[in-house]
Amino acid sequence: MFGPSTIAARRLLKRTVIQGGLEAVSLMSKAGVMQNAGGMGAIFTLHHVRPAVHKDFDPVAHLTITPDFLDASITRLKADGRVPVALEDLPDFLAQPDQPGPAMVFTLDDGYRDNDQHARPVFEKHGIPYTVFVSGGFVDRTHSIWWETAEQLISAVNEFTFDFGNGEVTLPTGSLIEKYAAFDRLHKALACAEQDMIVSRLDAQARTAGICPLGIVDHEVMNERELSALAATPLASLGAHTISHINLAHVDTARMHAEIEQSAERVARIAGARPQTLAYPYGDSCAAGPREFETARELGFKLAVTTNPGVLNSESLSDLHSLHRISLNGYYQKTRYVEALVSGIPFARR
Ligand SMILES: [Zn+2]
Repeated sequence: MFGPSTIAARRLLKRTVIQGGLEAVSLMSKAGVMQNAGGMGAIFTLHHVRPAVHKDFDPVAHLTITPDFLDASITRLKADGRVPVALEDLPDFLAQPDQPGPAMVFTLDDGYRDNDQHARPVFEKHGIPYTVFVSGGFVDRTHSIWWETAEQLISAVNEFTFDFGNGEVTLPTGSLIEKYAAFDRLHKALACAEQDMIVSRLDAQARTAGICPLGIVDHEVMNERELSALAATPLASLGAHTISHINLAHVDTARMHAEIEQSAERVARIAGARPQTLAYPYGDSCAAGPREFETARELGFKLAVTTNPGVLNSESLSDLHSLHRISLNGYYQKTRYVEALVSGIPFARR
């Protein structure tokens, strides 16, 4: 077991190491070392896009970037000769014998309302197509967003009593370090224990503390009317992102299949056409594997994206249901870091 201060120190250390690495790669990339590692382009992952608000306890700060950073990143990427491509057009783009330049593809997960308010104007200013991945349970307000509920609840309480899967324990959450430790513990429990159970326990506890989990969803996520209006704009597309935003690799095959298929049907009812694209929730190698990739292919998706970090390369066309993405991360909002990431150097095989 690690104490709260060890966990907080590790969080900080990890960020410092990554930041140092990105600075080094930025210099290498400017010096022309290892050119072409990112030759075919990149798909970017975004979540919230909104002006910065300082919060003392901000466990998911990495999921928010500002509209100014998005604007600056696109300006820089365009200046570097990158070509905006809609996600669903990517296979055709990659198959061209002569690409006009490396692709830049933008995707936004979870359907947050700020995507329409703050990201859409930036994309429209630059003429950039983008895909918003929608979870049916968030749109219909039947499913809460555990990380948003947990942030509000843990922020509000000085003590957190919770059954993480092995009986109730009480964690002190008075200090900031303790709050981060409790949040991390919950995050870990979701990867091991029954996810629906943990989320419903968390929701019940939040309600007891006067926090409404579905009210948070209603506040943060676009409803059907808003999504359908967004989908009707020329640059936006909607993609599927399951119903309950579950870690698909941790549920049985029937549930995994139903989550993907039903979310495709739900998006079809919003957008008027079945989505061609899917994003696996959480999306790393612990949340989506060969079983999920095969199901996405069988269900007729043209392509599907993970959150495994990487750029597009010559193998991407044969891995269309397990495409890598680069996260535009709230901790590293400097355009030189974006350039470092799209260089492909951080992901190059050594
Ligand atoms: Zn998501």
